[in-house]
Amino acid sequence: MDNTAIVTFIIPVYNEAEVVPVFSKEMSEMIEDANGHYRFEFLFIDDGSIDSTVESIRGEFRNFHHTILSFSRNFGKEAALCAGIDHADGDVVIIMDVDLQDPPALVPEFLQHWKAGFEVVYGVRHDRASDSWVKRKSASGFYSIFNMASDIKIPPHAGDFRLLDKSVVQALRKLPERSRFTKGLYAWAGFKSKGVPYVRTERIRGDTKWSYWRLWNLAVDGLFSFSQRPLRIWAYIGATVSGLSLLFAASTVIKALFFGIETKGYASIMTAVTFLGGLQLLVLGIFGEYIGRLFIETKGRPNYLVAKEWHRNPESETEPSQTS
Ligand code: UDP
Ligand code: MG
Repeated sequence: MDNTAIVTFIIPVYNEAEVVPVFSKEMSEMIEDANGHYRFEFLFIDDGSIDSTVESIRGEFRNFHHTILSFSRNFGKEAALCAGIDHADGDVVIIMDVDLQDPPALVPEFLQHWKAGFEVVYGVRHDRASDSWVKRKSASGFYSIFNMASDIKIPPHAGDFRLLDKSVVQALRKLPERSRFTKGLYAWAGFKSKGVPYVRTERIRGDTKWSYWRLWNLAVDGLFSFSQRPLRIWAYIGATVSGLSLLFAASTVIKALFFGIETKGYASIMTAVTFLGGLQLLVLGIFGEYIGRLFIETKGRPNYLVAKEWHRNPESETEPSQTS
């Protein structure tokens, strides 16, 4: 690697106007310290913000080489990351949240590991004290279920904060899937990877954009996009239940032969009927999850729509260009 490798930061932003100035200050300090070794560029994905996020970025980052892609509406962070991967053209990219929960101070360390030959360097939240108890527990539960059900293992507590070499970015661009669970896609791609532990602090300002409902949906997306086990397991459960009911039928016949027919048994019949009814609905739901995904994939709609973009290169004399 030569000394002036281009580092592109991919930053998804959604209604973050109040956070942008603080982010820009911290990043400028970090970049000043690392100066000379790299050329830093910013790629902001504005995920349909309705506040002054774009204006704020254009002001705060006017002295940096930056691009802003503005979506036509809110498509979600996964789509924003997908756009970032599609458009980043540095020798290496670093994906970061804008709210400083991913500490910029870690960037030089990430880059050192990259220089040492790692193609993926990801932050591992070894202390999630800033998250609520429910969020911590549900996250751990999700990682264990996911890694049990899927052949692709994702490292627990690794977020989206990561460095990707150009070769990984190019590999990820080849994946056409619509229901994107980026963490699973990184793991699928493989490459020489290294985890760097860090403490995830609280958001500096503003509120999280992820409600528990959105997190639940992300978890469901992840599981059903990367594992066929939920689909397969029902064949075994069905066979077991049928086997047991055959045994039960046999025992009823034998009992009737020796002791005569009982009229009782209403309760047990009801139990069997409702239990099996519930099981069937569950299986239908699971089929639905996969069929829904097939439906989304066959439609082949793009993951996002870019409505506007801005490019600024302070080193060239040209005014910031804007394309619609
Ligand atoms: N974000 C986004 N689109 C969304 C929600 C969030 O681009 O629909 C961005 C957000 O601006 C931030 C990052 O994704 O830069 C992480 O979001 P947030 O801090 O709300 O999530 P958390 O850190 O609570 O997981
Ligand atoms: Mg955050």
